[in-house]
Amino acid sequence: MSTPFWAPPPEKYPGRLPDKVDVLVVGGGIAGTSLLWHLTRRRIEAVLVERHHLAWGASGRNAGFLLAGVEASYAEAVQTYGREKAREVWEITNENHDRMIEAARGQDVGHRRLGTAILPVDDEERALLIESEQLLVEDGFSARWDGTRLINPRDGEIDPSAMVAALARQASRGAIREGVDVATITPRRHGVTLTAGEDICEAGVVILATNAYTPQLVPSVKIQPTRAQMLATAPESTSVTDMPVYSNFGYRYWRQLASGEVLIGGWRDTSVETEKTFDDEPTAEIQEHLDRAIDELRVKAEVTHRWAGTMGFTESGLPMAGPLEGLPNVYICAGFTGHGMGFAFMTAKQVAEQI
Ligand SMILES: Cc1cc2nc3c(=O)[nH]c(=O)nc-3n(C[C@H](O)[C@H](O)[C@H](O)COP(=O)(O)OP(=O)(O)OC[C@H]3O[C@@H](n4cnc5c(N)ncnc54)[C@H](O)[C@@H]3O)c2cc1C
Repeated sequence: MSTPFWAPPPEKYPGRLPDKVDVLVVGGGIAGTSLLWHLTRRRIEAVLVERHHLAWGASGRNAGFLLAGVEASYAEAVQTYGREKAREVWEITNENHDRMIEAARGQDVGHRRLGTAILPVDDEERALLIESEQLLVEDGFSARWDGTRLINPRDGEIDPSAMVAALARQASRGAIREGVDVATITPRRHGVTLTAGEDICEAGVVILATNAYTPQLVPSVKIQPTRAQMLATAPESTSVTDMPVYSNFGYRYWRQLASGEVLIGGWRDTSVETEKTFDDEPTAEIQEHLDRAIDELRVKAEVTHRWAGTMGFTESGLPMAGPLEGLPNVYICAGFTGHGMGFAFMTAKQVAEQI
C-alpha cells in the first residue's frame, strides 16, 4: 500500500462543481494551489476543483527538495537549451524558491536552506558536475565543487504537503472544492463546458493543473505519467547527511529531517518500463533497492513509510505553460518532469498573467 510520509492538509474542502465561474482550475497540487494564489492576488474569480483531496497527487508524495534547475545538470542543460535559456531556467527556479516561501507567509512548511549536494556516480557525471560548477559561476550563480560533490548553497527543502496547505489557507471561502472529478471538457466559442458526475459548469477559462493525469482528460497532451518511489524511516540518531543529496543523474535522492527521519527515493532507472504508469503503488523490486541503499547509508532506524507517486514528464524536460493548442479557452500548467516543487509557483504566475 502507498503510505506517503507527509500528512495531508488538515483542512477539508468538500464541494461541488460550480454552475458558472470565470476561471476553473482543475487539480489541487502545488500547481493548482499556486494558480489559485496568483489569480486571487489579481482579483480574478476562480474556483479550484480536486477529485480526491489537496496534495493527493505527486505534491503530497515527493521528496520536498527545492532544487535549482531541471533534472539534468547545468552543463547538460546548456547543451540542450542553449546558454541563455539554461540561465533563464535556473533564475526562474531560484526565484520560485524565494517567492513560494514568501507566499507561505510565515506558516510552518518545514523550510530549511542547507543547500543541496549533487554526488556523481561515475566519471561522466563527475566531469559534467565540474563543468557545471564552472558555467554556473560564470553565469552568476553560487555553486561549489568540493572535490567530491557539487554544492548548490541556495537550494533547500520543505514539507510539500504543508506548502500546498499553506497556499490553500489563503484562498477565498468556497474557492476550493474537493471530491470533484472532472470527466469532460468541451471548449465553446465564449468559454468551456465541464462535467463532473451530474454537475455541469460553464467556465470562462479552464486551467489544467493535472500534471501526470492531464492525458486522461485531454489525450493529445504529451505528458508521460512516470512513477517515482520512496521510503522513510523513524528518527535516526546518527547524522546521515549534512544536506539533501541528489545523485546518479537525478535517479537517487535522500535527505534527513531535523527530527532525524531519513527519506530516500529513486532507482526508477533500474526498471524504466514498469515505472511508466498511473499506478501509484510501490513495487517490491524498487523498494528492495531503497532498503539496500539505507543499509549502505548505515541507517539503523526502522522503515515506517513506503509510497509512490506519479510525475508528469514532457519531451523537452520543461513545464507546459499557456493556452492549449486547438482547445480555445483551455490553458495548461503542468508537465514538471519531476521538479514541480522547484517550478510550479513561478509557472503558475506566468499562466495567471496570461488570463
Ligand atoms: C516520489 C517523488 C519524489 C519527487 N521529488 C521531488 C522533489 O524533491 N522536488 C521537486 O521539485 N519535485 C519532486 N517531485 C515532483 C513533484 O512532486 C511534482 O512535479 C509536483 O508535485 C507536481 O505538482 P502538480 O500540482 O502539477 O501535480 P499533482 O500534485 O500530481 O496534482 C495534480 C492533481 O490533479 C488532480 N486531478 C487529476 N485529474 C483530475 C480530474 N479529472 N478532476 C479533478 N482533479 C484531478 C489529482 O487528483 C492531483 O491531486 C517528486 C515526485 C515524486 C512522485
